[in-house]
Amino acid sequence: MSNQKVEHHKVAIVGTGFSGLGMAIRLRQQGEQDFILFEKEGGVGGTWRVNHYPGCACDVPSHLYSFSFAPKPNWSRMFAPQPEIKEYLEYCASHYGIMPHVRLNTALTGARWNEQQAHWEITDQYGNHYTATYLVSGAGGLSVPVYPNIPGLDQFKGRAFHSQNWDHDYDLRGKRVAVIGTGASAIQFVPEVQKQAAQLDLYQRTPPWIIPKPDRAMSLLEKLLFKRLPAAQKALRERIYWTLETRVLGMLVDPRLMAIAKRWALNHIRRQIRDPQLRKKVTPDYTIGCKRILLSDNYYPALDQPNVDVITTGVREVTADGVIDVNGTKREVDAIIYGTGFKATDPIPRGLFFGRGGVDIVDTWPEGPEAYKGTTVSGFPNFFMLMGPNTGLGHNSMVYMIESQVNYALKAMEFMEQKGIRMIDVAPSAQAEYNQRLQSKLQGSVWNNGGCQSWYLHPVSGRNVTLWPGFTWQFRQQTRRFDPSAYLFNGAVEASAAGSVGEAAA
Ligand code: NAP
Repeated sequence: MSNQKVEHHKVAIVGTGFSGLGMAIRLRQQGEQDFILFEKEGGVGGTWRVNHYPGCACDVPSHLYSFSFAPKPNWSRMFAPQPEIKEYLEYCASHYGIMPHVRLNTALTGARWNEQQAHWEITDQYGNHYTATYLVSGAGGLSVPVYPNIPGLDQFKGRAFHSQNWDHDYDLRGKRVAVIGTGASAIQFVPEVQKQAAQLDLYQRTPPWIIPKPDRAMSLLEKLLFKRLPAAQKALRERIYWTLETRVLGMLVDPRLMAIAKRWALNHIRRQIRDPQLRKKVTPDYTIGCKRILLSDNYYPALDQPNVDVITTGVREVTADGVIDVNGTKREVDAIIYGTGFKATDPIPRGLFFGRGGVDIVDTWPEGPEAYKGTTVSGFPNFFMLMGPNTGLGHNSMVYMIESQVNYALKAMEFMEQKGIRMIDVAPSAQAEYNQRLQSKLQGSVWNNGGCQSWYLHPVSGRNVTLWPGFTWQFRQQTRRFDPSAYLFNGAVEASAAGSVGEAAA
């Protein structure tokens, strides 16, 4: 690190989405003031700021998909639209006094562990240096967009953009538009594009399973009730939580239980699509739940309109003025929209986090990311990764998982301060055992055996590195307390891979 003045903070947080803000607010609530948040965007909100495509909304009910400590009685709908969720996060950031700690338009470009000093050395995009005792990543699992690997993509002369970089200045009215991808994002924006475009060519590689979305506007009476009687909103939150939680039974315990959901989804197709050919095209051939189950009431009706073609033959090539499918049919278009998702299985780019011995975190993960309790990574002391490996969900609210992880990180810090420990590092054997158990639980799951390719599985190793295989309350139980027996302290190293864990060297 150069001789430049270095700013020190107790906690450095990357990102200001639900994770980063959740961490910061809980720190503030405990009276901690010495923390900083790095945010590469011009405002807070994370994924709910950067994703603003038309139709963007949450597919988890908002009364649950919000901080437990910050209920919002006046959600406009059961499933709030993106601008409202972004506003909620902005409100939380300012209400809880987080904004003075946030560096906007400032990307963290590198963090390196210094063993002698027992702190993180951090650099931002302007070359400023910082040090921090603790580093918390709230960078999100779905923030690096993926473009399809199709020949000719850069030859296209019309307008092209990814769902995450929606070009609102581009007027879709009367245009011929190709959409590639039919995932959670696409099914939300396709109905909006269909209303405006002259022609919409939808390139579907794998149809998603879709069930009805029980969305509705919240009544004035409900909003008043929730404001006056917070217990009523809490009761609704609980009801939603436990309803969603039961889905695990089919996903993990006995995939045959998914037959009920399958019937529901097939009826949805029959009710919403008249054209038998189209019904066939959108009916998946893999077990429901293998990919994320999507919720929509306006996607199928949009596909059934005369200005939409669903093309299932695959894309062979993109040319200057159109798209050629695998059968050789060329369809000319004015714009291409990529609904092709994110780099979920490799969420941290190379060259960002360097742990003990200067090792890049990416190099410690030859088979895809892994962590202990999805939060701490061996060789990366005093580092907490929110929404880390195997904390993702196919059935419930991520905010619940984030809050569990935040609690775990706070408990770890509290333990260290009480015992005068400067550095904790999860023992390699503890991390390995934890992941063996996790992977063996995943073996029987619908995500690993449902006959589909999904972003849940690592493209090289095939390991499921994204999902939590269990009830979310089980994760909460595991993260309720800090468990020192899994950790090495103050620079200790494990005697052998099978050696004793957690020499309390403090
Ligand atoms: P996604 O679910 O990964 O979907 C990507 C789509 O692009 C898939 O249909 C995929 O087909 C297709 N695709 C990828 N490469 C392709 C290629 N070369 N040729 C043709 N098709 C290709 O991405 P996403 O829709 O952006 O959603 C990602 C995640 O974000 C979701 O699963 C969810 O967790 C989150 N999300 C949440 C919400 C919400 O409401 N909470 C909304 C949007 C997104 P295959 O299926 O064949 O791979």
